[in-house]
Amino acid sequence: MTHEELWKAVLGEIELSISRANFITWFKNTSILGLENGAVTIGVPNGFAKEWLENKYNIYILKALRKINPEEIRGIQCIIRTENPSSSQSAGAGQSPQNRSIDAIKAPENRSSFDIRPSYPPHAHPGYPTNPALEKPTLIHHSNLNHRYTFENFIVSENNELARAACFAVSQNPGMVYNPLFIYGGVGLGKTHLLQSIGNELTASHPEKKIKYITSERFTTELVDSIKNQKIDQFKDYYQQIDLLIIDDVQFLSGKEKTQAEFFHIFNALYQLNKQIVISSDRPPHAIATLEDRLRSRFQGGMITDISRPNYETRIAILEAKLRERGFQIDRESLHYIAENITQNVRELEGALNRVIAYCEFHKLTPSPSATEKILSQLIFQTKKNLSLDDIFRVVIEYYKIEKEDLVKKGRKKEVAHPRQMAMYLMRSELQTSFSSIGSVFGGRDHTTALHAFEKIHKNTQLNTQLKEEIHTLKERLYYS
Ligand code: ADP
Ligand code: MG
Repeated sequence: MTHEELWKAVLGEIELSISRANFITWFKNTSILGLENGAVTIGVPNGFAKEWLENKYNIYILKALRKINPEEIRGIQCIIRTENPSSSQSAGAGQSPQNRSIDAIKAPENRSSFDIRPSYPPHAHPGYPTNPALEKPTLIHHSNLNHRYTFENFIVSENNELARAACFAVSQNPGMVYNPLFIYGGVGLGKTHLLQSIGNELTASHPEKKIKYITSERFTTELVDSIKNQKIDQFKDYYQQIDLLIIDDVQFLSGKEKTQAEFFHIFNALYQLNKQIVISSDRPPHAIATLEDRLRSRFQGGMITDISRPNYETRIAILEAKLRERGFQIDRESLHYIAENITQNVRELEGALNRVIAYCEFHKLTPSPSATEKILSQLIFQTKKNLSLDDIFRVVIEYYKIEKEDLVKKGRKKEVAHPRQMAMYLMRSELQTSFSSIGSVFGGRDHTTALHAFEKIHKNTQLNTQLKEEIHTLKERLYYS
């Protein structure tokens, strides 16, 4: 077996055990460079891949190697290959960073108002005849960055670590590692925070770089305005001299053909110059309806990574961090109550905490579980109002792998006793169904049966952490799947 064949087989194994986004990100353009005395040397395209492969994916690699290779494998090490065959891998990668030409974009340094006054090229000074062709009004540059969003105050957990690592890598080496970088995930999960962190980090290390953060909606509005005012050339000029372009919520470009075409044009120009482009969306590129194919394939040519919902522990960690930031203290039980009930996204989690803090400060109260519960009751009710009985059935049946019939009919099958009690518990706790209604849903049982089920589960959760976890999982599935 040649090294190439061995590595191919190893990759095949690894691909089965990790997510596609991770696989592509970390294993694209890797190869085996040597295998000697059980030590495997892997060639990787950059330092970030080296770090991740050696520290995080080494177990997967070793496992796969040992499975496929008869020889004993003792360890792996990664070497960054300088001659990088990957520069041709992304479609239309154009020039390498070394020979990129900034001169290709001729734009006046001294940008002035788009709307009000013309600006002059840098060599111009009063009294010196200027070339009228160069006297183009241009856009005032605003990075639109919000300094609140930094890598330091972003809590890293398994739901976002890949996205965070990719963003950080990009901030250290814009245009060189992952271009474009595409981050997707649901609302309030930290996409904007990460995107802006890249900009803030780069501003701090390279204040001379031109950074632009803009939502795709705003981009569309600006574009439309510039067309209306016959300033489309200035618009293009302006964008083409940005070093780091961050477009947030790109899903809103969907269906806007003219905007997409213009964006594609700007995108290509920046890309050819190895300028960094970072994009976020609430879904992966292939799921953005009516996105032009060429734009979609451009996105897919870079790095795509997702952010998922934070788990319970992460939610607690985020709350604790926000409390430290605010210099406020809350008792543990209240904190758990918030993390248990606000599971949808980090924005709501923060909102809930802010509500508790504001209420307690205003009323000069010390936070307590009962106060927290009261303050958040309305909020929690709002996030839960769309749940139905069918949702509960669906989740319980899936989770315990049982038949609905067994769950609701009156039989005494032992293995469904616990799932049934759980379903009853959830109906009460999540839908506030009366005990007699619960009884009748489950094969005309007496209301005391339902009451007993609820109390039993409720009591046991106080003692049994495994049961507590089980309820967490069921609730998560109830609300988010
Ligand atoms: P999105 O853009 O995905 O909708 P945002 O970036 O606006 O989400 O995040 C919503 C709020 O939650 C922001 O205030 C952000 O600072 C905060 N947030 C999200 N994820 C984290 C995290 N991992 N650590 C700290 N704060 C976070
Ligand atoms: Mg956002």
